[in-house]
Amino acid sequence: MAFSGALTLTDLNDFISPSQACIKPVEQTNGKPKQEEYVGAKTEIVVDSTGSYYEVSSGSVELNTTTLPSRVNNEISGTKLEQAQISLNDCLACSGCITSAESVLITLQSHTEVFTFLEHNQDACDDTKKLPVLSIAPQSLASLATALSASLSSSSTSSSSPITPLQVLRRVTTFCNSIGFPHVVDITFARHLALQEHVLEFEERKERDSKGGQDAQGALPMLASACPGWICYAEKAHAEMLPFVATTKSPQQVMGTLVKEWLGTRMGLTPDKVYHVSVMPCYDKKLEASRQDFYNDVYSTRDVDCVITTGELELMMKERGWDLSVPVPGELDEDISFGSLPQSLVNSNADDIRFPELLQHPGSSSGSYLHSIIFHLQRKSDVPLTLTSKVMRNSDYEEFLLTTPTGKIAFKGAKCYGFRNLQNVVRKVGRERGVRTAGGAAGRMAGRATGGGIRDRMKRKAGAATNGAGPEENADDKGYDYVEVMACPGGCVNGGGQLKPILPKNGNQTSTLGTSGAAGTSVDAEGYPRDWEQNGGGTGTGTDTVQTQSGVVMNAKWGDKDWTGKVEVTYWLTGEPSSLSSAISGSGSSQGGGMAWADEMAVRVLTEMCGSDDDEGVKTRRRLFRTEYHAVQSDVGNGLAVKW
Ligand code: SF4
Repeated sequence: MAFSGALTLTDLNDFISPSQACIKPVEQTNGKPKQEEYVGAKTEIVVDSTGSYYEVSSGSVELNTTTLPSRVNNEISGTKLEQAQISLNDCLACSGCITSAESVLITLQSHTEVFTFLEHNQDACDDTKKLPVLSIAPQSLASLATALSASLSSSSTSSSSPITPLQVLRRVTTFCNSIGFPHVVDITFARHLALQEHVLEFEERKERDSKGGQDAQGALPMLASACPGWICYAEKAHAEMLPFVATTKSPQQVMGTLVKEWLGTRMGLTPDKVYHVSVMPCYDKKLEASRQDFYNDVYSTRDVDCVITTGELELMMKERGWDLSVPVPGELDEDISFGSLPQSLVNSNADDIRFPELLQHPGSSSGSYLHSIIFHLQRKSDVPLTLTSKVMRNSDYEEFLLTTPTGKIAFKGAKCYGFRNLQNVVRKVGRERGVRTAGGAAGRMAGRATGGGIRDRMKRKAGAATNGAGPEENADDKGYDYVEVMACPGGCVNGGGQLKPILPKNGNQTSTLGTSGAAGTSVDAEGYPRDWEQNGGGTGTGTDTVQTQSGVVMNAKWGDKDWTGKVEVTYWLTGEPSSLSSAISGSGSSQGGGMAWADEMAVRVLTEMCGSDDDEGVKTRRRLFRTEYHAVQSDVGNGLAVKW
């Protein structure tokens, strides 16, 4: 299977330098050569014209011809070396390849894989047939909607109203139904559950922190866990940060649990009888889905079987001749009949297993993790807490304070997007918590400095927990309680798997967007025109825009701030204004139908999956909605310092 050509080095300004060595041990299966055959020999690795590797002897000792099937040239013969096969599952996130997803290893998850599955599934017998389910991220819908709106406004003289993510969801649902997915959902309900769990975990950590001593170690600040780019980075480069990272599963993985464990059960299907595809704004989500932690040993299946990006979904539609710009019947209707299962597939009432759609969780377009905690604290506080914010280095790094009427700081959090900001925050948290931060690529658990950091010293001085009475703290001295960490600058709306910016038509150049590779070297495998030089690949074509079939000129470069801003605006176009607290409380105190439905549904799902709140129920909930992290061990030196 071909690896998507859309994966390249892109925004080098925000890139961690990759290391040169992949640290995955490669099993040598060639017969062990006899020691004497090599005595005195000088060996080299040579690559022939077909790209095969040979270990060759340039010394005087002749090698045994039975182990030397190939002759590289007239003077040197050698042993053909076996190529290392590395699949996604082997990725140790070791920094041995490019940062923004270790993407050169991703070969097992692609849109062609989805097509292949659907084809085989159609003809499968009852025993092996699976139920295909597709879930899609709201950022992906926003990206598709923004591109559609830009295409339409560029190709039409009259101004048209923007396409909303809800309309795109309807059209994508209709397309997916037509190719064999009877069930299509967006992942915002899974995010609703993830946010509830996240808040619960924050409360647990806060309590641990207030106790001090051993219990408090690694409790606060809690660092967000939904971004696999950040998780990979922490596991390979800053293992000392792992105790601070929330253990709550990301919305993608919560949706995986819902689809396989809840929906499947309700339909009388075991997890292996459901095939779950998720559409995500980045390639890192493929790595996340492939983690061993999300593998079901009993049924030999994963919570998410295949992850495709927004671009790959668009490519699927193009390959099947589906025009996303054409409205589908009823797409503007309020009555939501999309996303429900055909009655023939359902053992119970379809309404019973429909998830609420496109819930808006106010705060950020990357999931509102920070704001879910802020709103929760405001809601449960006995005194009114005032929220203020301050932009730090740039809009991707902002601090948020909750203060009491007397000026006491009840909470300090931050939103931190992009690797540059992220590294600064890691250092800051390390200083505050008295944790020595790792300087190298491989995850070495750094020793905890004795005596505590600034935060601990502040706490000793204050003699009180962070939320409550006590001497006033200076905002600059107070450590963070929570940080919403995301690897992409601009957050998930700017993920590497999103559609590329569409610029106004200038008609200078032509291409055939949608016919993969047809336009030559300036078009990537997903059919997108690419400026390889600007993106770090450097093919030397010097072209960065091409005209598409609809006459729209597209710029291939990711990270376009104006474009990201437009996707951000589109992201918030759909959905009802919701009660801030209801989004996270799970208390049922919501305003608005969608959120009320979500709260009720959340209670129902949790009760059915976890039972009551007793010890057993708590254990089940943790098993289903939490995960763990693993420091990557390596003998490789400071890989991050190595430049290619
Ligand atoms: Fe993926 Fe980027 Fe969002 Fe992280 S911030 S989850 S890498 S899109």
